[in-house]
Amino acid sequence: MGPMAGHLPPSDLAARTAALAALSAEIVDCFRCPRLVAWRELVAREKVTRHRGDPYWGRPLPGFGDPDARILIVGLAPAAHGGNRTGRVFTGDRSGDWVFRALHKAGYANQPTSVHRDDGLRLEGAYVAAAGRCAPPANTPTPAERDTCQPYLERELALLAKVRVFVPLGAFGYEARCRVLGLRPRPKFGHVVEIELPDGRWIVCSYHPSQQNTFTGVLTEPMFDAVFARARELGTAGSTRPR
Ligand code: SF4
Repeated sequence: MGPMAGHLPPSDLAARTAALAALSAEIVDCFRCPRLVAWRELVAREKVTRHRGDPYWGRPLPGFGDPDARILIVGLAPAAHGGNRTGRVFTGDRSGDWVFRALHKAGYANQPTSVHRDDGLRLEGAYVAAAGRCAPPANTPTPAERDTCQPYLERELALLAKVRVFVPLGAFGYEARCRVLGLRPRPKFGHVVEIELPDGRWIVCSYHPSQQNTFTGVLTEPMFDAVFARARELGTAGSTRPR
């Protein structure tokens, strides 16, 4: 089945969990973007000095987390030596350190660290995915690659039937989220900007926890924590707007 294939979301948790697992297997086996396939495999072969002894995943990354998630965090794409190495989204790089530490503080993760696929990390009430599933050169997929991959996010979202709050990390994740939701006009992206969707769900925007942002103080830890605290409030409360 290709990424454009659609299906109705099963309402039953067991069926949705099985469907998510099947979708994950399909994503991992995707070779649709020749440039990205070549890049992810080249990086996995050549490695980087600090990870010379590590096996690299070198494949696409499905989402990770709780099929009954109330919040969905959407990043840009895997990092060449992070997710593309470890095989789990946001795992094994500095951005992931920020994401999972914040999720742990907000009560969504059982541990604050995320270093490899078998590290025991579990999410409860949250799901993490990326707009693009393969590590792109210069961290930037082309518009065509972005569009080719987008149906995977749509299908994942259709199966995450309990999601109330979307947390896009960075403007790219935000735009991907808006495209999937058909949101027009698109409110201006900004940190902790929150947007109520016509169906009562929410977007809570966040700056991306890239080193460019965290090293320069554009994004601080309290700023990042505030996003997940707010997402939890909105995700718990449903469509009412708590303060
Ligand atoms: S970016 Fe998405 S569509 Fe392209 S090869 Fe990777 S998984 Fe497949």
